Amino acid sequence: MEKVLVVDANAREKGKRFSTLDVIGVGPRLVTALFRSYNVSAKLYSYESVICNPKIMEDYDVLAISFMISDIHAVKKLINLWNKVNKGLVILGGGGTLSQTALKSLHFAMAFKGEVEVTLQSIFSKYTNLREVYEVFSREKSVVRGLVIRTRDGKILDGGLGIWTPKERLSVIPAVEDLKTYPFYWASRIYVEVVRGCSNFKRAKQTSNGKVCINCSLCYNGPLNLRLQCPVGILPGCGYCSVPTVHGPARSRNLYTILEEIERLTKIGASRIVLSAPDFLDFGREELVDGPLTDPCSPPPNIDAIEELLSKLMKIRAVATGKTVIMVENAKPCLINDDVAELLGRYLKDTPIYIGLESCSNNLLEKIGRASTCISAINAIKKLKSHGLRPYIYLMHGLPVESEDDIRKTIECIDVLERIGVERIVLYRFRPIPCSSFENFAKPIAAISDAARRELRSTVIEFNKRQKKRVQGIIVKAIVAQKHPTRKGYLIAYPQKHGPVILIKGSEGLIGHRVAVKIQKAISDRLVLGSVVHIHERYV
Ligand code: SF4
Repeated sequence: MEKVLVVDANAREKGKRFSTLDVIGVGPRLVTALFRSYNVSAKLYSYESVICNPKIMEDYDVLAISFMISDIHAVKKLINLWNKVNKGLVILGGGGTLSQTALKSLHFAMAFKGEVEVTLQSIFSKYTNLREVYEVFSREKSVVRGLVIRTRDGKILDGGLGIWTPKERLSVIPAVEDLKTYPFYWASRIYVEVVRGCSNFKRAKQTSNGKVCINCSLCYNGPLNLRLQCPVGILPGCGYCSVPTVHGPARSRNLYTILEEIERLTKIGASRIVLSAPDFLDFGREELVDGPLTDPCSPPPNIDAIEELLSKLMKIRAVATGKTVIMVENAKPCLINDDVAELLGRYLKDTPIYIGLESCSNNLLEKIGRASTCISAINAIKKLKSHGLRPYIYLMHGLPVESEDDIRKTIECIDVLERIGVERIVLYRFRPIPCSSFENFAKPIAAISDAARRELRSTVIEFNKRQKKRVQGIIVKAIVAQKHPTRKGYLIAYPQKHGPVILIKGSEGLIGHRVAVKIQKAISDRLVLGSVVHIHERYV
């Protein structure tokens, strides 16, 4: 049996993670389980565990790397190491394979592009292992959809994006036990997919390759199935995002598959689980419409489906006792009404929820294809806050279609966001990504060189610092993850219900425990200092 070593290189950039160290995404876990479902012996390792112990590589025939576009350097290091230890095939997967630059610069045999379920089914219905697939396709100079081959003479054969996986085939349970190869997996936010794809099939008004909307209104007023295509050829969704193109309209995973996966995660000591979805409120919403769910705001959320999911999750023993905390990822403002906010507050009180506001200029939001206005986001935040959720906001800068006036409007709005109880603002710089409408726009220059963006950046940093000061004196439950890499005698802990990383003084024996920590002071806009006031149970 062919043996595949799956390595999670996501967010490893040049070989080391500098932020969100506590995130474990779902992609590598899923692909590991999919391989196993085709009788391929696959094992998942974190990037760190393989880099620190290359001998692991000796036991495998194939190296399968999951990565993002920003991780090319880390992937090169891994492939170089593999080639020293093992001459087996290298295959690639994850968001990084959408980039032609990445594919041209990496030495690989095959790459999966976009969703993998249908592609794997198509190849394993004919061939028994990945080596055979490569030999045949390379010799015949042919590929199937979703696969890229680098032939022996160096030519790249690109089969394009994989087919969107039908909803009923989103039932594979991603690998669970393999998470034990990740450093402090017990303290990490482990993402569990609940919805694949996005319901926003509105579009940007103009694209980086010169396409201009003719205002036919098809993508926001037309029948749901006709919204998949735009007569001008503008890609669906927000201009900077590739999710609708790569993953299609929103489809929910089966409730019992999600429950089974989370139950298994609790058994290995998972303390923090994030229900992952481009919009959590799309869960079960496709059941309310005929055709694909391509409308981001109508119908309203499927309250019954969401309630069934959350209520059943809360009955899992570890969740009921508080050993494992459930959080959700994102929600679109236009789907948040009083009933939704009350429901989320009932089950997810004191946990964060991310809202993609992006800008406070409605003019800009319309230009980039956003589904919600600034005021609808503000109203949604107020509702969530009043029901005990902790709103986190995304803001973006550096969009090529943004004006100084758009940035000023966002700066002026920061006070409002503070008054209505936003807990954190995540400000990020636009980056052109493949398969999005803005793919060919230039990467913007750093905020530092532009007065308005510089002001936005410093306003947000000050906002986040003030929020950190507010937590001074409060007691939170946190999971102790590891020693601080440079400050002797200090440990790093993650708040179980998410929040700033906590630096605590204590012995290494605390690692792997849940502790109650009193926050003493903010050290930076990302880090606070705390002291342990109580030691709860041990996870590992
Ligand atoms: S983006 Fe395309 S589908 Fe939507 S209104 Fe414009 S032309 Fe019509």
